[in-house]
Amino acid sequence: MNDSSLKAVPFSKLPSVNQTTLNPAFSFDENLQQILHGKSLLFDELPFIVERIQEHYENGYLQYSVGVRKSKYGYACSRCGNEKSHLFASFSCYRCKSDACVYCRNCIMMGRVSECTPLLTWNGPDIQWSDKNNLMWDGKLSSGQQVASQRFVDGVGGKGELLIWAVCGAGKTEVLFKGIEIALKLGLRVCIATPRTDVVLELAPRLKAVFPETLVASYYGGSDEREVPAQLVISTTHQLYRFKQAFNIMIVDEVDAFPFSYDKTLQHAVSLAVFPKNFTLYLSATPSLTMKKATEKCQLPYVKISQRFHGYPLPVPKMAWSGEWRKRIAAGKLPTVFEKWVKKQADSGRRAMIFVSSVSMLDTVTDIIKKHVSVQLDSVHAEDPLRKEKVQKFRKKEIQLLVTTTILERGVTVPFLDVAVFGADHDVFSESALVQIAGRAGRSKDDHDGRVVFFHYGKSLSMVRAIKHIREMNKEAES
Ligand SMILES: [Zn+2]
Ligand SMILES: [Zn+2]
Repeated sequence: MNDSSLKAVPFSKLPSVNQTTLNPAFSFDENLQQILHGKSLLFDELPFIVERIQEHYENGYLQYSVGVRKSKYGYACSRCGNEKSHLFASFSCYRCKSDACVYCRNCIMMGRVSECTPLLTWNGPDIQWSDKNNLMWDGKLSSGQQVASQRFVDGVGGKGELLIWAVCGAGKTEVLFKGIEIALKLGLRVCIATPRTDVVLELAPRLKAVFPETLVASYYGGSDEREVPAQLVISTTHQLYRFKQAFNIMIVDEVDAFPFSYDKTLQHAVSLAVFPKNFTLYLSATPSLTMKKATEKCQLPYVKISQRFHGYPLPVPKMAWSGEWRKRIAAGKLPTVFEKWVKKQADSGRRAMIFVSSVSMLDTVTDIIKKHVSVQLDSVHAEDPLRKEKVQKFRKKEIQLLVTTTILERGVTVPFLDVAVFGADHDVFSESALVQIAGRAGRSKDDHDGRVVFFHYGKSLSMVRAIKHIREMNKEAES
């Protein structure tokens, strides 16, 4: 099946049959249809022999396109849309025998795409999705959620975009349910894309639970559901590179969490993954300045949810001056005010997330805290191989204090939680990062005012703005 020597056929050596119409007499492979439908994949990503794939091509059921092509200014990658010359390199290629086969560095994590690499797309009949797609959820929406949900419902089936600007803890996932149900019942395909794997892992089981009859799959690096055909897909934004004209509804969660406006290729990936007629929904608690401006100029329709689901205001962070924290840490000590907080927190039995500015700070701070408290304590960062397990343990209360980099500023929702930002004046803590971090606390109805403390050595503008931002959202919610 997986003879890689066969898959090593260079693009230039494949017989070019210009097949534009489907041969109805050909019996296509449904497995191939399911895997390739709505995607753009490499030979290596398909568990079929080259001859079988080629047969489908000759009968018009799939298409090849060149992975990296020459463009006006240099090169362009067909998968991720990259055109920046510094993101291309060349190598001595085993497949095409060229000494300088140009490949794309921008999407290399999905497997190398080069000049001689064919990208395969499905050209045969569409998959017929189940018409049973009932929403099994009997919860109630808050009035703010209801308004946003209706705006989404109104957009389903049409072309357009909408920003749902919802405070952390507004319950934005529930806002999506009705619109998704209607879309699925119309036979449309829906994707929820988020920059973070943690969020995919949190959302997928919730959506599977409320849409038990629907084919739901999660896509992230290492997911075993990536080859499952699904009408509802929960994907990291990076995995979107593998889709081509697949979705009618695209929901981009945490739209501010990745530099959407800076990373054109990611934007390109989103635009390639949807049909030309699509409805795109953006979700954010802290929209970027660009997005806010677009709403002010009426270029981007939006709806705001300023109140948390449980109706209580967002916890307003307190600031605690903790002196030259870098020096204290370098000397193997905690700033006194922070040390007191840590001990009190440990005694309280409540869970806390302690945010630090960098991975190097993470280990040092964790080690020093360990000397002061005897409760379960651990640390986690983006590249941590045990990240998933640690977050799980924290959820299950097997870890009481979790020291983390900003990677967990979103998505992770745990009740009865307090939050500290150690060295909050550090540049890495932007206004939106601090708002997100503060938003981790007080999310449950039974514990709505979790405490948030910014430990600092001189207030930063971001700290001041974050607190102002939270106060303003609370004020709007009151009115
Ligand atoms: Zn690329
Ligand atoms: Zn090559």
